[in-house]
Amino acid sequence: MTTASLRIDLDAILSNWRALDALSGTATQTAAVVKADCYGLGASRIARMLARNGVRTFFVACAEEGATLRQIVGEAPEIFILSGHCAGDTEMIGDLSLTPVLNSAEQMHRHFEALPGAAFGIQLDTGMNRLGFEASDWFAAAPAVLAAGPKLIMSHLACSDEADHPMNRQQLTEFKRMTEGMKVPRSLSATGGILLGSEFHFDLVRPGIGLYAGRPFEAGTPAVTLSLPVIQTREVHPGETVGYSNAWTAETETRVATVAAGYADGLSRRLGNVATLWAGDIPCPVIGKVSMDLITVDITHLDEVPDALDLIGPNQRVDAIGDLIGTIGYEILTSLGHRYQRSYVGGAA
Ligand SMILES: *Cc1c(COP(=O)(O)O)cnc(C)c1O
Repeated sequence: MTTASLRIDLDAILSNWRALDALSGTATQTAAVVKADCYGLGASRIARMLARNGVRTFFVACAEEGATLRQIVGEAPEIFILSGHCAGDTEMIGDLSLTPVLNSAEQMHRHFEALPGAAFGIQLDTGMNRLGFEASDWFAAAPAVLAAGPKLIMSHLACSDEADHPMNRQQLTEFKRMTEGMKVPRSLSATGGILLGSEFHFDLVRPGIGLYAGRPFEAGTPAVTLSLPVIQTREVHPGETVGYSNAWTAETETRVATVAAGYADGLSRRLGNVATLWAGDIPCPVIGKVSMDLITVDITHLDEVPDALDLIGPNQRVDAIGDLIGTIGYEILTSLGHRYQRSYVGGAA
């Protein structure tokens, strides 16, 4: 059986991490956010490569991801759990030396009681209203927290993908106000914040999407190629239709290629009649609906039938695909399914 192939360039990922590390300067540590299995691309290879190449601090969403990551990267790196210390996580956190980022007084009490003396970070809410201590709770808890020696105090920017958004500066001011004079390492920025400049960098930055050159780090090196094999071609005559619901009708003689991937592989049905696949540098329009396992493409203008057509590659990054269907590159990446034949290139350290 021919399956679609997802090719992940570990050298490109490392060069993107290094570029972000260079942007954030020598006084700032550059961590890596590897939640959701490295944004769907595979922590077992990517996080391992990053750890071997000097990344000392990782962030994941939950304790289960932390447990998996601990086995991949070994004992040395620090692994922060962004959801904090949730009920039922104590054994995993304790056994595997995970570092929860405590988000509330409730989590703080849970952590201090269950694992006295164990490492932790703190998340502050500076306006996003998603996770973290609000200012009044924080100032009440701060004396006890600071006495226990947090590894990191962090917050997260809501609008850092828009450089001119006033929210960025507002959150910066609030973060400074909430952490003034506290002698604890601080972190405010993900990929977007790194690009906002040195004021936003503090002691540690937390890039995720930038490792794959996703927006807003479009200056990075593309790291992902998704190639869909052509499994059949046919000539379609004027007036004939293609695919479910007759959603596309030929106006002229058309050569149609059927490629093997569909919405069961995370390629949204909304890409039907909208997206473009690429034969090298030549764009080929998707025609008709996206099926569960198949997509139909107009290749009339190609001289030869290609072995495969690319959906993701240097000519069309995940953000461009997201734009077509009203979402973001992050969602395109994390939706990619499990049927692809995944291959990793580079990464020798
Ligand atoms: C996901 C996440 C990041 C990484 O964000 P990117 O935009 O992918 O760089 C950093 N910090 C927190 C709290 C996150 O949830």
